Amino acid sequence: MPNTIVDSHAHLGWDSFQEDRIEVINRAFDSGISQIVQAGVDFVSLADCLKIADDFPNIFNGVGLHPHEAKHWNADSADIVRDAFRHKSMVAIGECGLDFYYNHSEREVQLQVFREQVRLCRELNKPLIIHTRDAWEDTFAILKEEGKGELRGVFHCFTGGPAQIPTIKELDFYVSFSGILTFKSAKDIQCAAPMVDADRILVETDSPYLAPEGKRGKRNEPSYIWITAEKLAGLRSCSVDQIAVSTSKNARELFALPAPSS
Ligand SMILES: [Zn+2]
Ligand SMILES: [Zn+2]
Repeated sequence: MPNTIVDSHAHLGWDSFQEDRIEVINRAFDSGISQIVQAGVDFVSLADCLKIADDFPNIFNGVGLHPHEAKHWNADSADIVRDAFRHKSMVAIGECGLDFYYNHSEREVQLQVFREQVRLCRELNKPLIIHTRDAWEDTFAILKEEGKGELRGVFHCFTGGPAQIPTIKELDFYVSFSGILTFKSAKDIQCAAPMVDADRILVETDSPYLAPEGKRGKRNEPSYIWITAEKLAGLRSCSVDQIAVSTSKNARELFALPAPSS
């Protein structure tokens, strides 16, 4: 029997899946995906994401404000995050972090709102899903200052390189590889892939974004995760089965997922 795998980061609640969401989800499970974590980006779509998890018990959720949405953080936001954990599908805070490439929210606002969400991780003892782009130093600084060595989390859609791996190991965080790993131009990411410890690697699609090589330009969907897993296996000189087993185990540990339900 072929192995199963966890897609540790996707956005299935979005409009791009409106027409055929159920088919996409069924294709994911048919392809051998056992569980999917949907990352939260705003509070507006939260109810839709919870509803999807109600319909599909192997789908889980994160809650938080993406750095693009950081300007929407207000006095009620921390309570929205706390309340969201009453839902049984809620497993993480995020995705949140810093994106100094797009700067859709002011940098100062991004820094403050990331800090708030890191504090909530410690308060609620939940793992963090980090989105960071062109902001490694500030991201690491906040994790060290606010985390105080007690945080768990993942650098989702890793776009760094070998230079970032030592600090990530020091923090004892996980690294998640997306379809970008398969791009010919992604040399730094490919160099970093064998450096991550086997018990700290995750894979993800970030659907509907970042379709892997061979599907580029198309809408991404969870069933394409196997292309990234295959690439990762090649870079780490192991089998796809080994990648599937270890990344699934890692995702279950980080997010405290239950055994997949049939
Ligand atoms: Zn992201
Ligand atoms: Zn995402």
